Amino acid sequence: MSDDKPHMSGTVPPGDTSQRVGAEVVRERGVDPEELREKLLDAIAAEFTTYYYYTNLRTHLAGEEDYKEITEDARLEDRAHFELVLPRVYELGGKLPNDIRDFADRASCADAYLPDDPSAENILEVLLEAERCAIRTWSEICDMTRDADPRTYDMAQRVLNEEMDHEAWFIELLSKERDGEVNPAGHFVRGEPGEAPYSTNNRFNDSA
Ligand code: ZN
Ligand code: FE
Repeated sequence: MSDDKPHMSGTVPPGDTSQRVGAEVVRERGVDPEELREKLLDAIAAEFTTYYYYTNLRTHLAGEEDYKEITEDARLEDRAHFELVLPRVYELGGKLPNDIRDFADRASCADAYLPDDPSAENILEVLLEAERCAIRTWSEICDMTRDADPRTYDMAQRVLNEEMDHEAWFIELLSKERDGEVNPAGHFVRGEPGEAPYSTNNRFNDSA
């Protein structure tokens, strides 16, 4: 029987729960699953800390309701990115650090601190550079996984789609705020705050 069912066996013995075929197939295709999952942890740590910092940045855009709303979309979508990719870390044999401080410290992008002068212009610049770091991060993960790990690649390219949206939003807003220039992103508001059209996890019990 095994002759005509070649995928019924491989490097992981039957019933062995200490290893994962889902990780070994990635290794067989040339990517080290341990290295990849550590990179994913750094990347989702940045998504999680960005979610936190954007909360603070958004609250300081008082009176700029359009800026606030777009920051809120980016904030919630970054949380969705954390949640989308987290299961992949476990699938590749990794785990979340027990201490959130360790998690925050390993983020692959800098802390998006509120600027000393929290003008709308300065806040928008912090937001823009955070998005650019995310684009670079997820592009690197796409490059690592394109041929070796279709599952991680699928997640990374979904996140990347939204990070590119986010950069375009903040270019539009910063151009207007700082330079008085119209520099369209071509986007209109998400249907719901933080809709995450590419990256959201499947919603269960969504009968509405
Ligand atoms: Zn993100
Ligand atoms: Fe983002």
